[in-house]
Amino acid sequence: MSRSHQEWQHAAAALQIDTRPVIGARTAEFAEPGASFATVNPATGAEVARYPDCGRKACEAAYAQSRAAYPSWAALPLSARSSVFNAWADLIVAEAETLALMDCLEMGMPISTAVEDVVYSADILRETASLAASLTLDAGVTAPGTTSYNIAEPLGVILAITPWNFPVNQVLAKIAPPLIMGNAVVLKPSEVACASALRLADLALQAGLPAGVLNVVPGTGRNTGAALSGMPGFDRIVFTGSEATGAAIQAQAGASGRARPMAMELGGKSPNIVCASFRDVEALGPALAQRFLWNSGQVCSAGTRLLVHESLADRLVAAVTAAMADYAPGDPLDPETTFGPIATAAQHRRVTGFVAQAQAAGLQAVTSGPAAGLYVAPTLVDHVPADAPLACNEIFGPILAVSRFSTTDEAAALAQASGYGLTAEVWTRDLAEAQFLIRAIPAASVTVHSSLGAGGEGSPALALEPRGKSGFGVDFGRAGLLQFVQLKLATINT
Ligand code: NAD
Repeated sequence: MSRSHQEWQHAAAALQIDTRPVIGARTAEFAEPGASFATVNPATGAEVARYPDCGRKACEAAYAQSRAAYPSWAALPLSARSSVFNAWADLIVAEAETLALMDCLEMGMPISTAVEDVVYSADILRETASLAASLTLDAGVTAPGTTSYNIAEPLGVILAITPWNFPVNQVLAKIAPPLIMGNAVVLKPSEVACASALRLADLALQAGLPAGVLNVVPGTGRNTGAALSGMPGFDRIVFTGSEATGAAIQAQAGASGRARPMAMELGGKSPNIVCASFRDVEALGPALAQRFLWNSGQVCSAGTRLLVHESLADRLVAAVTAAMADYAPGDPLDPETTFGPIATAAQHRRVTGFVAQAQAAGLQAVTSGPAAGLYVAPTLVDHVPADAPLACNEIFGPILAVSRFSTTDEAAALAQASGYGLTAEVWTRDLAEAQFLIRAIPAASVTVHSSLGAGGEGSPALALEPRGKSGFGVDFGRAGLLQFVQLKLATINT
């Protein structure tokens, strides 16, 4: 990290945020008097920026821009769309510090984490472009004189609605697949953090994305989000956020009278299952702490449940508790800070409410130290029953619920009890147990580790699909890209 704490503070004081929507280009035309909302720095309580809470007129204008721009974007060869994506990724990396600062100020992500996130997220554009180039479609076995093959045609105009927890990452992950496949997009970023989303659209225009292909409409969920999802024109709706909002969007879209495809990435309650055969128990403490404390636990796939074999439980709980001390609350603008505040006051009330409820039910919460303001100290609650609110609900904060098991069947049952199905990790040296748990756990992704540090990351070319309360729709991989096209069977007889 090149800048010191003081330099980041100066950069924050000097930061200019353009709050106008991107509807074709930046425009102030649709600002309605009195309809606005502010983003608030959770570390200080200070207002960061005030945005127009875009109403129906702005939403319809954004849709009209996308619809008009769509045919010529769809008609471009993939190589031309890829060139735009690669140039866009370069511009994002060049501006990583500014984009990171926006996220840091609006939702409290520590600045070092935020810079890493922006640089990592720019790669989503490069990887999506190269994955699209590797797509092949089927051709049939036919008689001489007949040629039969599949064509992939874009869907049209996509509505994307995103959350605040990784503002740059969540926006790019949601809009890259539809755009590379030739669709136009209207994006509504979260009202908690939207400066970086608007700036990403500026950079896309600079990179050569034709005006109107990507429109970004800031606004609150109840106003802008409801207006957009109630419009019949969008050809597919893609959403990342909470289950309650996902259900509301389905209802709003249904009330428009038009049925169409949707994909919803909702919450998670991801277990780490540590089996009796696992050896590196003490060394696992820091790894498990990182899994529920990164971004203060505001991660859909955070490992917020620890299911541990009773023979290892006391040692592992001690190791995780010791590792929690490395996450001291700090100023998000300090490049040394690894642990920031909870993003909003409402979210802080929700997180602390779950801990108070567990304590009232007689469970003991161990924290790593005091926390003030909107900070919540890393917290571990042991002996959590499978049906306790702490085990069944996504909390979206730095709270780990520990439950103990004596058989692998019991571990599988505990892993299913929350009803979420996003990710799971299994720590075992027993191959048969690993295979059993991969099949038994209903989740989009199950990762097995035979030892700490074994292997690397999974392939980005592979798809996954959430289950249960975690939502639906294929994500990532070639199968994820195919969600944004319709296949046509073409047959030529000559
Ligand atoms: P949220 O559901 O409150 O809001 C998400 C988005 O929906 C925001 O842009 C919001 O303005 C909009 N919205 C709210 N009400 C709406 C309505 N009636 N109509 C249309 N849009 C509306 O979620 P959040 O608090 O921003 O984010 C946290 C949630 O996101 C957590 O549940 C988390 O697990 C989930 N999430 C999931 C994933 C995943 O990949 N599965 C990734 C990140 C976050």
